[in-house]
Amino acid sequence: MSGGYMGKILWVNLDNSTIHEEVPDERLLRDFIGGYGLGARLLYERIPPGADPLGPENILGFTTGPLTGTLAATGTRWTVVGKSPLTGGWGDANGSGFFAAALKQAGYDAVFFTGIADRPVYLFLDDGRAELRDAGHLWGQDCYQVEDWVKAELGDDVEAACIGPAGEKLSLISGVVHHKGRVAARSGLGAVMGAKRLKMVTARGTRKVPMADPEAARALSKKYGKEITSGVGFADAYRTKGTPGYTPVGAVNGDSPTRNWGASVLAFPDVEPLEFEHLLEYRLERKSCWHCPISCWGTSQVEYQGRTVEAHQPEYESASAFGTMTLNNDYPSLIVANELCNRLGLDTISAGGCVAFAIECYEHGLISSEDTGGIELAWGDHESMNAMVEKIAHREDIGDLLAAGVERAAEKLGPESEPFAIHVGGQELPMHDPRFEPAMGVIYKMDATPGRHTQACQFLVPPGYESDRPGFGIDREQQEGRGRWIREACCLNHVSNVSGVCLFGYLSTHIPFVPEFLSAVTGQPFSVEDMVTVGERIANIRQAFNVRHGINAVTQPTPDRAYGRPALPDGPTAGITVQLEQMLGEYLEDMGWTQDAAVPKRDVLERLGLEDVARDLWD
Ligand code: SF4
Repeated sequence: MSGGYMGKILWVNLDNSTIHEEVPDERLLRDFIGGYGLGARLLYERIPPGADPLGPENILGFTTGPLTGTLAATGTRWTVVGKSPLTGGWGDANGSGFFAAALKQAGYDAVFFTGIADRPVYLFLDDGRAELRDAGHLWGQDCYQVEDWVKAELGDDVEAACIGPAGEKLSLISGVVHHKGRVAARSGLGAVMGAKRLKMVTARGTRKVPMADPEAARALSKKYGKEITSGVGFADAYRTKGTPGYTPVGAVNGDSPTRNWGASVLAFPDVEPLEFEHLLEYRLERKSCWHCPISCWGTSQVEYQGRTVEAHQPEYESASAFGTMTLNNDYPSLIVANELCNRLGLDTISAGGCVAFAIECYEHGLISSEDTGGIELAWGDHESMNAMVEKIAHREDIGDLLAAGVERAAEKLGPESEPFAIHVGGQELPMHDPRFEPAMGVIYKMDATPGRHTQACQFLVPPGYESDRPGFGIDREQQEGRGRWIREACCLNHVSNVSGVCLFGYLSTHIPFVPEFLSAVTGQPFSVEDMVTVGERIANIRQAFNVRHGINAVTQPTPDRAYGRPALPDGPTAGITVQLEQMLGEYLEDMGWTQDAAVPKRDVLERLGLEDVARDLWD
């Protein structure tokens, strides 16, 4: 390939502080593109089955895609990969901002860390040079303090991705934070960084990402820039309000889980305070990631409990996780909850799920103020909610238990607490209710990183995607056949994700956006059909990783509440039960995975060029 890649993957051995470069194989890039595709292919063979996610055998990677740092709109994404300590299987998490472009401009497509350092360290990638440095003085600092130190001491042009106290203390719901609020949050990979004593990765550089056909890329940039500014797909929604615009919508249409998934929207006090106009009252600035024409996010400032809090505005997921989930409609407190998670290095979705779980346990007398260090938990009480976030990050009192996620907390608190622990495979579910979109129930269960909302659903397909498959449509009563379109939609999403563009760019342009840019940038012709094939290969390598690490996604339980067992008696999704078995059977058949354990079949693996994986799983 003649463009899109810097041609270098860095391997950092933390055991002995050695660093070496590898030139990525052409076939690896062609078959897996970048991001978590490249990561899963490399780590499938390098992380041994049974490896402790927090031990030296786990490998942690920071990856980019070929469209990252190019003229492709929204080419801002970086992905953290490794074995997840939260789920015990494949882990990946995706962040935006400026870090990915800096990583490539520094000269690298990806960097992987093996082993465990004997003291806190950070990696500095400086325009083609890589150096491991002492991070003793940063250990214990929160993500805001680290970011400020980087800008003051290393330079304003240096971008950083770091962990906070939560990652240092090995919280299984900790993430990796960049720019005080662009977070690769899911899969608990902040704890892997903490276990490796790797405080942060920093990058800066002046190198340009090569493009095979810059003229064509410029023309595409114009074409798709116009699509975004003329409101194709979700473009206007992202450009005018961003995901917070959806917060009051999801709260009433049945998409946002309410009271820890246990009630309908009728239990929520009043949605009006969550209207976007109220968020604007606290807005400091509208902001954008690196060269992104959408500019979907912003920063806020509020006075809260005598403190001036400046933070990235809470995205929909964060606002709902601390809003509808806990019956809280106080916007300033949502800004603060988001700030605390970003500052301390927690995944907002999981942290919100843990707080809601704790409130319900408290309500039912399974924990008391003795366990919480004196905090009296109650629905809608945002001060106790935010106090609990700090307890989780610092692993104090019951926060120590919750820092490992709701599944492990429920194991300790006993069977009575289990119905309140809403997760699949250990990962707390995001803020899209399967009773609202039943196919989400299959995706939450079957993605290699379970409980993920960014892998496809009826609403996550770009304009121009046509499907005549049964079940493609928004009638949630019609569930039969719905499992049949998931394969294709997920495969397309995988390629968009690993190419290095933002999901919001993918959803704000017509479907050829990604393949046309891949063709122009890499010089390798790429079609929508190729997207489906490559996406299928990526889905299979992630799934094969999980099979080798002992995970059976078919027998993995799903939480009754989220799947409508029993159905809600009222609200917009009243009476809906997710027909999981039906859709799951359809999905497994389409994927060519076994019905009893979701093992990719030999012929599927061989068709995708994964003969070595076929031998591992079937010989
Ligand atoms: S759409 Fe938003 S999150 Fe995505 S790259 Fe642009 S500014 Fe960043």
